[in-house]
Amino acid sequence: MPDYEPGCLFCRIIRGEAPSKKVYEDEHTFAFEDIRPQAPTHVLVVPKRHIRGLKEAKPEDSETIGHCHLAAAQIARERAIEDGYRTVLNVGPGAGQSVFHLHVHLIGGRHLKWPPG
Ligand code: AMP
Ligand code: ZN
Repeated sequence: MPDYEPGCLFCRIIRGEAPSKKVYEDEHTFAFEDIRPQAPTHVLVVPKRHIRGLKEAKPEDSETIGHCHLAAAQIARERAIEDGYRTVLNVGPGAGQSVFHLHVHLIGGRHLKWPPG
């Protein structure tokens, strides 16, 4: 899998070729505000390396995926939403995955019901 997938929206965002409201960046991850927020905090954390989704992830992607979750936890700490937030990976169209570059949704800042819809 190449690091960059031509035509991938999130690859373009990471490279600054498409606009985003950047929240956080480190060596492995990039985070930005979701364009259609579902809660006061709705941030997308993505690996800089193109991974199509969790289904397609390989053992060598484990650390990268872990980094995304830890980056989400760091953002939640900074935003003081640690009373309750959710990290979500939608996997496949049936679960609502619409962008095929793996992304962790960080959702919080309001009461979150369980189970999700
Ligand atoms: P999913 O449905 O899990 O694939 O999540 C894709 C998310 O990307 C949705 O929550 C969209 O609102 C969000 N999204 C789509 N295009 C953009 C964009 N240009 N900038 C920020 N978020 C976006
Ligand atoms: Zn991509």
